[in-house]
Amino acid sequence: MPFVLHSVPCLQDNYAYLLHDEETGATAVVDVPDAAPIQAALAQKGWQLSDILITHHHHDHIGGVEALRAETGARVWGAAADAHRLPPLDLALAQGDRVEIGSEAGRVLEVPGHTVGHIAFHFPDSKLAFTADSLMALGCGRLFEGSAEQMWDSLCKLMALPDDTLICSGHDYSSGNAAFAQSVDADNPDLRARIKGFDDARAAGQPMAQASLALEKATNPFLRAGDARMKAALGMADQGDGAVFAHLRQLKDAF
Ligand code: ZN
Ligand code: FE
Repeated sequence: MPFVLHSVPCLQDNYAYLLHDEETGATAVVDVPDAAPIQAALAQKGWQLSDILITHHHHDHIGGVEALRAETGARVWGAAADAHRLPPLDLALAQGDRVEIGSEAGRVLEVPGHTVGHIAFHFPDSKLAFTADSLMALGCGRLFEGSAEQMWDSLCKLMALPDDTLICSGHDYSSGNAAFAQSVDADNPDLRARIKGFDDARAAGQPMAQASLALEKATNPFLRAGDARMKAALGMADQGDGAVFAHLRQLKDAF
């Protein structure tokens, strides 16, 4: 049985995600920007937290980990590569490692770029991937620590997941990302349709940081760095995909 997914808005524009396994009662949270809204959601659902999954070391993703661990005794999972700057880990993870939450097993993907130790979690049976500040809804994370080449490799890794995977990212940056996407890909009908739906989705209280991988591939300008039309529009028809990605990332930084 797939997880029950519950999105929890935190801080300004962050999202934490609760995964609940009805078979065993296990419940995991992906990232803890702030403990209070997550505790409130757990209480409202009547769920007992068993696991805390951390994507990367930034404070807006781990700020509430210790409070939540103290309250629930949940196990904390995070990247071995960043163990020195994460809350103490019960399970230290690297590329390909298994993450068992109740009756379902997920896999760790190392997706450096935003930070060097950034990881994502893929749960194939539930068709969910938690990508935080690597692949984001209609965007990707800024390159604070890694290179453009690293981020492009990370995005390619994520693009290899099944198209019907729901990508759950760390922030709602939909407004800024939509404006940028339109500036480089105005003629894309899928992009126009997606942006047109944003206001309705926001009004309906739908989480803005989630979309299928298929939709991201069709509309996210950073995933379209290998697309011939995108390359031509940027005057980079003869350039490699990675170079086009690096250029798009620079344009967005200056946007
Ligand atoms: Zn971050
Ligand atoms: Fe963040």
